[in-house]
Amino acid sequence: MTGTMHCEGRWNLDDLILMKTGPGLERALSVLDDAASTVESWRGKLNGALPTKAFAILVRDVERQAHAAAVLDGFSYLWFSEQTNNADALALRQRVDSRLADVRNRTLFVEHWWKALDDDAARRLLPAAGDAAYHFESLRRFAPYTLSEPAERAINIKDVNGIHGIATIYDMMESGFTFSLSIDGETKTLTRSEVMVFARDPDPAKRAAAYAALLQAFIANKDVLAQLYKYTVSDWVEENVKLRGMTSPIAARNLGNDVPDAAVDALLEVCRENASVYHRFFRLKARWIGVDCLRRCDIYAPLEPVVREYSFDDAVRLVRRVFGDFHPKLADLAERVFEAGHVDSQPRPGKDAGAFCYSVVPDKVPWVCVNFNGRVQDVSSLVHELGHAVHGQLAAEHSVLTWHSPLPLAETASNFAQMLLLQGLLTIDRDSAFRRYLLARYVDESYAAILRQAFFALFERDAHRMVKEESATADQLAACYLDNLRSQFGSSVDVPDEFRWEWLMVGHIYHSPFYCYAYPFGHLLVLALYQQYEREGASFVPKYLRILEQGGSKAPLAILDEAGFDVRTKAFWQGGFDVISGMIDELERLGS
Ligand SMILES: [Zn+2]
Repeated sequence: MTGTMHCEGRWNLDDLILMKTGPGLERALSVLDDAASTVESWRGKLNGALPTKAFAILVRDVERQAHAAAVLDGFSYLWFSEQTNNADALALRQRVDSRLADVRNRTLFVEHWWKALDDDAARRLLPAAGDAAYHFESLRRFAPYTLSEPAERAINIKDVNGIHGIATIYDMMESGFTFSLSIDGETKTLTRSEVMVFARDPDPAKRAAAYAALLQAFIANKDVLAQLYKYTVSDWVEENVKLRGMTSPIAARNLGNDVPDAAVDALLEVCRENASVYHRFFRLKARWIGVDCLRRCDIYAPLEPVVREYSFDDAVRLVRRVFGDFHPKLADLAERVFEAGHVDSQPRPGKDAGAFCYSVVPDKVPWVCVNFNGRVQDVSSLVHELGHAVHGQLAAEHSVLTWHSPLPLAETASNFAQMLLLQGLLTIDRDSAFRRYLLARYVDESYAAILRQAFFALFERDAHRMVKEESATADQLAACYLDNLRSQFGSSVDVPDEFRWEWLMVGHIYHSPFYCYAYPFGHLLVLALYQQYEREGASFVPKYLRILEQGGSKAPLAILDEAGFDVRTKAFWQGGFDVISGMIDELERLGS
């Protein structure tokens, strides 16, 4: 990277599939078809007495199919995202989707057989899966909680018209809401995403009006929405706890994430105990926006930006510097993404507006999409996605079935890279206004990812208990939510009573109960690791690289344990809050 000048540009997909149409593409489709046929040839040959050697061959066949599927899926997704209005790309995406669904159906019997296999046979065969063992182990994680086949079939059928129907009704209601907002004397009818723009407006009156409009629409439908929530909770508890025998409602999510209950309990407890860290921040923010006490509708008030302009080349150099200061390997792996021509950084109409990294298959350097506009947040987003790309490359020795990190660890490298960038920028730029802006932005965003989401999970824990044991009413759930908000904000934010209905707006608690804690888990994990890096310096580096190198070849906690981090302890998670607290100390020192 030293001698090369980096400019914004488009990526190259040629080393994934050489031609977008014609022989290159047809070859990739026939590789998939062949691989699926090979897996299909095992039909009728799978039983508990299968020799381990045969199982090892089956696993290689499954890997070959997964690789071929990932190439096509990745290619069609990347081509489509570079120009979402390209009809050819869209047509290919649809063609690939239906081909993938077809091969999945043809070969699903392998998974079914493996999941239904008795424990002794599974234990005997598992080591023969080699590096793919954790994938096969994961498929059986739910085995102790699996019911008889007719019962499972009945649950599936009834879910389609039952709990999935409830979620669909919620979505239909929620997406049908419009919000009337009077802006500069004119009344406008807006969608939810449009109204949320005003929730972040510099004008306090617009922010208040935005929240009032939002809440009003949900409160007008509160009886139905609350009833849908109670059905959601009852279904979750009845199925997971009463029928399947899990120990608690949250345990069902923990099992999916393969994280022990103790680690999640410790995380949520530490979040509850550290709410006061953010109270200090909200008092500071009140000063910055010139009020005595922040109102709930002010918490996303924008901070006065301190503008710095970066050319794309500046950004790439910065990324290389912060990665290289940590370990040269990180800088080299980031550089490989540029060398391979796998970065699409140029903003243009029709391109996916977001940022992502797509690690397609272990033997290809990952692809990175950003929309670079020269602001500090664009540099941050570039470093985040390159963090993912480095993670993918460090784990590339693993099976295609186990190289992707499990959900609780999926944002480790990306968020850690952002912390490295933040500290790098703070070291380089001594201007106090800029430092304050950088730190304030970080803490601001961390609130939404950590504390707010953790308190959603805490509310869910109470709500599931209340619905299960006390047949709680909508008003009782709302009162519980208001208590939750009061303990989240203390006296640092003025929370009006209407916010007791805010939970009706939180789609995650309807769609995926307890999903929300994945955000604080991922964010605090990185902050806690960062704190250890600050404390230990160079001796931390190999432990951190070891975490990334494992990809998804083991359970998340096995990976962390092996690197010497015990996330079952409150002390570990506290380290994350100590970093945030340190940033707020500095913000207090920097004054207003
Ligand atoms: Zn990410």
